[in-house]
Amino acid sequence: MKKYWYITEYKAKDKFEKIVFCKEKDLPQWTSCIGPYDSEEEAREKNMIADFVCSKCGGLVGLHYTDPYPQRLTEHKLCFKCEHFREVKEVAERDKNRVIIEGNSYHIEPDRADGFFKGFGGRQFKIVRNDDPTNIITTRNLWHQGEIPEVWKKDIPDNAKFV
Ligand SMILES: [Zn+2]
Repeated sequence: MKKYWYITEYKAKDKFEKIVFCKEKDLPQWTSCIGPYDSEEEAREKNMIADFVCSKCGGLVGLHYTDPYPQRLTEHKLCFKCEHFREVKEVAERDKNRVIIEGNSYHIEPDRADGFFKGFGGRQFKIVRNDDPTNIITTRNLWHQGEIPEVWKKDIPDNAKFV
């Protein structure tokens, strides 16, 4: 009997999209799907799936990305998406302009007087970092970088708030 496997990206329960194998009948509500294949082995081989799963989300790890990703993902044992959040964590720890507020990542770009394209259309925000609570940062150039997925929230906690 032929088994048909798909590699799918889907919204998991925690809303984090991870890559999984599944049979056609079990297909979740996928956002991207490749296949079918005759076997899981074939699907693994054709999609360069690593022989380990992501240590963070438990999803499959595709190694088909350009350098330096295959090596980086293997070294960190992370999928492409989790590697992205590992970088977010790193930046948030060293860059004062990277703030995490209510589970979202933002970057404070320099204020510009000219008509250059600004974050949130130039809307003004006031932000206080937890490590510098008396300093109110005012910006008209804030960029939203995305929501921190549930699986990363403990590692990338809020470090600031809007005031
Ligand atoms: Zn992952």
